[in-house]
Amino acid sequence: MKIQEYQAKQIFKNHNIPIPRGQVALNSSFVQQIAEDLGGKVVVKAQVLVGGRGKAGGIRLASNPDEAEEFATEMMGMDIKGYSIHKVLVEEAIDIKKELYLGIATDRVLASPVIIASSYGGVDIEEAAEEAPDKISRITIDPLVGLCDFQIRCLAVSIDLPRKHWRIFRQIALAMWTIYQSHDASLVEINPLVISEENGLVALDGKMTIDDNALFRHPELADLRDLDMENPCEIEAQKYGIAYIHMSGNIGCLVNGAGLAMATMDILKLKGGDPANFLDIGGGAGSEKVSSAFRILLSDKKVKAVLVNIFGGITRCDEIARGIMDALDEQKGKTVPIMIRLVGTNSEKGYEILKSRNLKTATSLVEAAEKTIALAEKK
Ligand code: GDP
Ligand code: MN
Repeated sequence: MKIQEYQAKQIFKNHNIPIPRGQVALNSSFVQQIAEDLGGKVVVKAQVLVGGRGKAGGIRLASNPDEAEEFATEMMGMDIKGYSIHKVLVEEAIDIKKELYLGIATDRVLASPVIIASSYGGVDIEEAAEEAPDKISRITIDPLVGLCDFQIRCLAVSIDLPRKHWRIFRQIALAMWTIYQSHDASLVEINPLVISEENGLVALDGKMTIDDNALFRHPELADLRDLDMENPCEIEAQKYGIAYIHMSGNIGCLVNGAGLAMATMDILKLKGGDPANFLDIGGGAGSEKVSSAFRILLSDKKVKAVLVNIFGGITRCDEIARGIMDALDEQKGKTVPIMIRLVGTNSEKGYEILKSRNLKTATSLVEAAEKTIALAEKK
């Protein structure tokens, strides 16, 4: 679960990480007053759960309260990378001398938390990592030992941090480590962490991702979930216990088992197709689950064809076939072509059911992928 910048900053503030003064507004008519209270010159920041807002027009520097309100009015309802803006954060504008990067993330390869710092802040860290990998320092944190002073000093040196900011840098890094642990976060990031003439080090942006699997330990964080901002299909899928991840392609995938779902997407890619989603209905799914999965994946308007790839183990292929029929009855008006491959328990029975509807089927995965790609291109 990602949380909004203003929410992350509230957590930062509670842990004594310096942040700019500011207030969130749900309506642009409050913005003028907020800006007035903050001294007039403010930054209006779109609260959406995607990065790169700056480049997309979601971060604007206003020189007076009227302008701030104007910018907020323009932003509200605007779209950034498919997410519409319902909230803006209005903050005092900070003079920036230098932008740094500081983050703590879970490194899956090392199976360990790492603290990352760079003098190359403000930009996408992924971009920086490609352009100037030597400008990024990473230090593994042993979870049993915790973040040590010598590690923080190493980072401070590696980003050429002036000596006078070291004390507060240490305080910020330690606070981030505390936050990372106590919130079961997989990412706590400040980008940019700025050096300002007047204020010293300030966290100008804040990003946090919390491990969904640990959310049950944090009932207090559940309230921070911003359902407006999440993909509605993903929320719907969670309700039915379906693992669904939305992607950018045009071929909907319905598969049982995460590994098989990944393999199905790989084959589609290999054959020149582009999957619209990852969808795993899990083991032993009944017809009801199949039809809700269909509903979810067809609600994506980009889907031009659907590939169903089922391996019947505990899951019975005839159950799946029945689910597909139900889904089709439900989706009457829609005419997205479907390619189905069933292997394993009761597959013959399944195919028989499908035949009664003249549905397209395939026996091998490669054949199914190629045919689905052709169907998607035809549309
Ligand atoms: P992101 O693009 O979504 O990561 O949004 P950020 O909050 O990181 O802001 C992007 C950029 O806007 C920063 O790197 C700064 O250069 C600029 N910016 C944000 N807040 C301020 C501010 O208070 N003063 C000034 N001068 N620039 C700001
Ligand atoms: Mn940022």
